Amino acid sequence: MANFSRKNSRKNAKKEQKFFITQPLLPEFNAFCKSLKEIYASKWLTNMGQKHFELERALEKELESPNIRLFNNGTIALLVALRALDLPRDSEVITTPFTFAATAHCISLNGLKPVFADIRKDTMTLDADKIEPLITPKTSAILPVHVYGFPCEVEKLRKIAKKHNLKLIYDAAHAFGAKINGQSIANFGDITMFSFHATKLFNTIEGGALAFKDAKLAKKIENLRNFGIENEEFVRDIGINGKMNEIQAAWGLLNLRLYKNEQKKRAKIKKFYDENLGKIKGIKVPQMPKNATNSYQYYPIIIEQNYPLSRDEIYAKFKDENIMTRKYFHPVCTDFDCYKRERERERGIFFIRK
Ligand SMILES: *Cc1c(COP(=O)(O)O)cnc(C)c1O
Repeated sequence: MANFSRKNSRKNAKKEQKFFITQPLLPEFNAFCKSLKEIYASKWLTNMGQKHFELERALEKELESPNIRLFNNGTIALLVALRALDLPRDSEVITTPFTFAATAHCISLNGLKPVFADIRKDTMTLDADKIEPLITPKTSAILPVHVYGFPCEVEKLRKIAKKHNLKLIYDAAHAFGAKINGQSIANFGDITMFSFHATKLFNTIEGGALAFKDAKLAKKIENLRNFGIENEEFVRDIGINGKMNEIQAAWGLLNLRLYKNEQKKRAKIKKFYDENLGKIKGIKVPQMPKNATNSYQYYPIIIEQNYPLSRDEIYAKFKDENIMTRKYFHPVCTDFDCYKRERERERGIFFIRK
């Protein structure tokens, strides 16, 4: 309802418009209604319905991956990825502290121990040269993140994983549609996880997927996604409910048609920001390496020491103007209370070892 007392206050009107960090990509409304009608007619809402399979096959094409399996969110997908590789309980997984909480938590929730290695200054991804000194007989895997869509050092990481017989799982939650040397980002390591959360470039409201080359993993992943139930008579594994429903899948099928255009729009905005912010002393705009293409999911800038204001001061000033920026990733995982305690007490997380 209109609030007439504010009708003539331009200042207030301006104050009320908030600029969020991103706007979710929405399917065309009438097309979504048509999909809903189909779902109503089918009376099939979840548990691997028609839209679900349609989206899996469409994503295999889009991401140039031989195997995509959908999930109800990226976190559950990553949880299942780590479980599907049968990593020994209590073993160590080397990862980056400069990521969203889900990356490290998926390791811990699997009864594994996250070991944090430092990141590169330029791409902010896990520094491959910092990994080998951290490898112990207990190390079982490496979990790097293509943070902000910046590609990890995939070739170096592949060599390290092979040399030490470690599994390699990528968190590509930021990198939908990105490429390295013309290759889809989905095609590196044993398994790659994508998130389709509303804030990500391509979204299914909530959702996620695993991409993998080895077809032998498919059955295990499908089984873990559905409570470990293999058939009506037989439960093989300790699984989880990771299924994507038909409404999410329909949303995804429609958004899949739109995301490239969204990237083009964002590329234009990025160019404008690059040209103008790039000139300011003390503000660094990290650029993609020449061999990689951007997903355009984020626009990160780095506030350097020689800028007159601190990052937190700039964040507060923008907020005063109703412009919502984010301090990503703050706090970093090593500063989370749970991992600080872990460091101090040297014991397992959630699964306490004495
Ligand atoms: C969003 C995100 C996730 C989790 O994905 P959800 O779909 O929100 O569960 C994991 N890792 C990173 C780096 C993310 O940004």
